[in-house]
Amino acid sequence: MTDAVPLKLFNSLTRQLETFQPVHPGEARVYTCGPTVYNYPHIGNMRAYVFADVLGRTLSYKGYKLTHIINITDVGHLTDDADAGEDKMEKMAAEKAQSIWDIARHYTEAYWADVKALNIRQPAKWSIATDYIDEMIAFAKSIEAKHCYRLASGLYFDVSTVADYGRLARAVTEDGEARIDEVEGKRHPQDFAIWRTTPPGETRQMEWDSPWGKGAPGWHLECSVMGGKLLGFPFDIHTGGIDHREIHHPNEIAQNQAFCCTNGLDVAENSGARIWMHNNFLVERSGKMSKSAGEFLRLQLLIDKGYHPLAYRLMCLQAHYRSELEFSWEGLQAALTRLKRMVMAVERLRNAPSGGAVDHPKFAPALEKFDAAVSDDLNTAIALTALEDALATKKVDDGSKRAVIAHMDAVLGLGLFDLTREGLRIRPKSAQINEAEIEDALARRKAARAEKDFATSDAIRDELAAKGVEVMDGDPLGWEWKL
Ligand code: AMP
Ligand code: ZN
Repeated sequence: MTDAVPLKLFNSLTRQLETFQPVHPGEARVYTCGPTVYNYPHIGNMRAYVFADVLGRTLSYKGYKLTHIINITDVGHLTDDADAGEDKMEKMAAEKAQSIWDIARHYTEAYWADVKALNIRQPAKWSIATDYIDEMIAFAKSIEAKHCYRLASGLYFDVSTVADYGRLARAVTEDGEARIDEVEGKRHPQDFAIWRTTPPGETRQMEWDSPWGKGAPGWHLECSVMGGKLLGFPFDIHTGGIDHREIHHPNEIAQNQAFCCTNGLDVAENSGARIWMHNNFLVERSGKMSKSAGEFLRLQLLIDKGYHPLAYRLMCLQAHYRSELEFSWEGLQAALTRLKRMVMAVERLRNAPSGGAVDHPKFAPALEKFDAAVSDDLNTAIALTALEDALATKKVDDGSKRAVIAHMDAVLGLGLFDLTREGLRIRPKSAQINEAEIEDALARRKAARAEKDFATSDAIRDELAAKGVEVMDGDPLGWEWKL
């Protein structure tokens, strides 16, 4: 039933919807460009991993055996995506006067905490870039003679040695090139370093011996190497944020072509992965995504303000991954309210017998809608409404409903059966009162009302309001108070 409709995915390489056809029958191998662990991820970064997670869950739902790799970039990503600037990790380590390894560990753990809070499934492997330096050197050596040249600053890839360079980006000549800083001696503006030799007299915290001198790998090289090594060329799907469509992924593709000794991109396999997928950005109306009114928009900030992290996941699911999504606190609040409604409806099913029938005929329309939606390039916005249709279906046994909701939630990943209304109510960090005190005040208020002592009852209400607690008489979602 789950593969009733073939899965169609938008391939950035062809700019077309394509029916997913696995390289290895019954399997799906996916590589996702992971974070550069020099700072906390902002919630825009996390949108990229929610998208990759939904893709992985959809492939599992469609019956494919999934192998998903997400890398951790702990070396090589420069402050400019092209070849300019410093290594982001080295720069942060210098600023903080800390060891680069400590910085990498700290921010990797912070990223993993966000992954967990957003119900992003664990990949088959988190591949850490610095664990693959030998393989990177071997890869670079194997393509050096035909595709690279040396400059004092390192080993450079000559983009004219592969056919169709930059096809993925399309606009590379307008947008991309303008962003590329000149390095003296480069043959073409788009040529990029695959090994960055440490300048004489300098030392880097992270550097390794290589045939091109002591130095560090280029960022693009690491993803080519880890993707090829862990999934085998060609693999099925490569994902990342839309910014990677312009420089990072065209450069990965060029290296993959060189390594696989294949050429033109008219044959999809030649790029190393059959399908390249990109999520659009989360944007912030008032300026730079990572900052909102001076605050760094990371998941912990949302939690500190009293929003459950899965409200943010739901916010992501409400938009198509290829559309820009504008972040707003009102939007997040609306997503939280919607999540609360779902959780209330699901709470009633919690004690229903498990093992109910997913194929109960009453659920057929919702299940068909759901399957058609996720099969249509992961249309989670419609899939969510199918889940709500199923929740609203009347005159069906709770066991079947429970099974249908679980079946859909396996793709959406909201974890509805693990959530409770109380659990969704997170105490804002700024709150000056705790749950017990609130419950106590509400009990006193109830007693006063029972005695028709409205003056006391109103006074308690005002007292609570002063501490940021809104008393919610007759709330349709059954909450008595909210911070
Ligand atoms: P980075 O750590 O800079 O390599 O970014 C991690 C991931 O987040 C990459 O896939 C980026 O393309 C993606 N990304 C960066 N900014 C945003 C944003 N505002 N919205 C969605 N994805 C983003
Ligand atoms: Zn990458």
